[in-house]
Amino acid sequence: MGAAGAQDAQQVDVAVVGAGFAGLYLLIRLRRAGFTAVALDTADDVGGTWYWNRYPGARCDIQTTDYSYTFDPELESAWHWSEKYATQPEILRYLGFVADRYDLRRDIRFGTKVLTATWDEAAQRWLLTTDNGKPVSCRYYIMASGCLSAPKPPEIDGVGDFKGEIYFTGRWPHDGVELAGKRVAVIGTGSSGVQSIPKIAEQAARLTVFQRTPNFAFPAHNGPSPADRVAALEKDRADYRAQARMSLTGVPLERATEFSWQLSEAERRQRFEKALAAGDLVAMLSQLWADQGGDLEGNALASDLLRERIRSIVKDPETAEALTPRDHPFGSKRPCLETDYYATFNRPNVTLVNLRQEPIQAITASGIKTDRRSFDLDVIVFATGFDAMTGAITSVHPIAGRGGKSISDVWASGPKTYLGLTVAGFPNLFMITGPGSPSVFSNMVVSIEQHADWVVDCLMAMREAGFTAIEATEAAQAGWARHMADCSQLTLHRLANTWYTGANVPGKAPGLMPYPGGVGPYRTICDEVVSRGMLGFTLS
Ligand code: FAD
Repeated sequence: MGAAGAQDAQQVDVAVVGAGFAGLYLLIRLRRAGFTAVALDTADDVGGTWYWNRYPGARCDIQTTDYSYTFDPELESAWHWSEKYATQPEILRYLGFVADRYDLRRDIRFGTKVLTATWDEAAQRWLLTTDNGKPVSCRYYIMASGCLSAPKPPEIDGVGDFKGEIYFTGRWPHDGVELAGKRVAVIGTGSSGVQSIPKIAEQAARLTVFQRTPNFAFPAHNGPSPADRVAALEKDRADYRAQARMSLTGVPLERATEFSWQLSEAERRQRFEKALAAGDLVAMLSQLWADQGGDLEGNALASDLLRERIRSIVKDPETAEALTPRDHPFGSKRPCLETDYYATFNRPNVTLVNLRQEPIQAITASGIKTDRRSFDLDVIVFATGFDAMTGAITSVHPIAGRGGKSISDVWASGPKTYLGLTVAGFPNLFMITGPGSPSVFSNMVVSIEQHADWVVDCLMAMREAGFTAIEATEAAQAGWARHMADCSQLTLHRLANTWYTGANVPGKAPGLMPYPGGVGPYRTICDEVVSRGMLGFTLS
């Protein structure tokens, strides 16, 4: 885009792509710091994830005591969550409440997709083109575009031939979907599938679930927030939040320190039952024994207990076996919290199709055809997940940095970043919860606040010192890649084919994308970069 585009453009200090948890908090911080800013979102309102994912059963799986903004104690006391795991409508109301409280909508361009972004070397500014209204010219360009916001397109032949209704959990219609009396298929058994399948089974005449890979899941035990968690928070809110920021996951729970082999079988089972009763993702992933996340033998003990539970609920042994994960260690793929998920497969109107044994051949005009059978259907629901971590970033195409280099080309063999926040060759571009940051390995609100604070503090310091451009060095980026690789050797994530590693998207370069070193250690590194004079960055 040439200079003429820039002249017509909306001129701001900072352009933010996205108006979810991250975009909203960035607007608050940027305004308070005295920067002019605009956020752009394809959606027609705020909310991001919680605007788009309106499927039946959609909820958070980090407890609401923790899955909330923490930057303003007055906001915290002005909002009360009704449940331990809030529904999508409640979380969307919360984000609307935040937008109203800080009067954010006036700086958001809704219904506006950012199409391209080009760095203008002479002007030291980015120019963003959009599909609705003026381009935007900005000094700083922040992608708050979400880790799980680009739904994966269906990979099955014949989708266009189907004469019935097709829905995507990540793009669920606002008015809901009438499923009563219908023959429904759900394809996919990740978090969205596990949440929606029991709800859909209650409504549909028949539900057929098409599963490629079973996930580990355990009960959410939803209800009011647990008294002990609320008490811990209310006893000293500031301290609780400070602990969360320095914890490994963004939730301040004590981690087990004893190794599996230091515990008797009875003690291990007792711990497992306790974690099961807690209905908490972080507890189950960190409070059994110290070697559950990093050692295959320690992990197998936890995996076996979870498998045993599936067999104890699902009556048909073949279905139980099909639902039992055997191809990845527990926790290496994001586990799910479930409410009646396994029990749903005991219902007479529900059938599980194991795609490992009978792959889908095609979607036809009347339904789905596998190697063995045909299913006549009225509705197909795709719960097939996202092009995670990089999908939304590279959907702005091109993002053209110094010398016209495109980020998609630079990332052809996997995302390269410094701290998951910046990319060498792309001055003044920041990513919130980008690949190489803790992002989906954490309570994301904690990570989002940390990122937004770090970025806005950086912009303020640059303004103060009279700099106009910041860019990661290639050396720093290479160092971060080495550190990522070292950390990933300490966990079991590398042993699973998951959306964490890009394995769910055909052709995507393999490699662990979230930073596995933990939220607190990551924060310490980011702070150290600042205290050592923006180590790894060039400022001009
Ligand atoms: P998002 O909320 O994804 O917002 C990004 C926005 O950017 C979107 O609205 C999108 O439309 C917009 N956008 C993207 N590209 C463009 C473009 N080119 N032009 C214009 N707009 C664009 N995390 C947790 O920590 N705990 C949970 O319990 C949890 N539950 C989840 C449940 C579901 C069903 C899903 C899908 C995710 C969940 N997550 C959870 C992760 C969740 O994505 C984050 O917690 C958080 O909501 C992300 O906020 P965000 O602002 O970074 O991105």
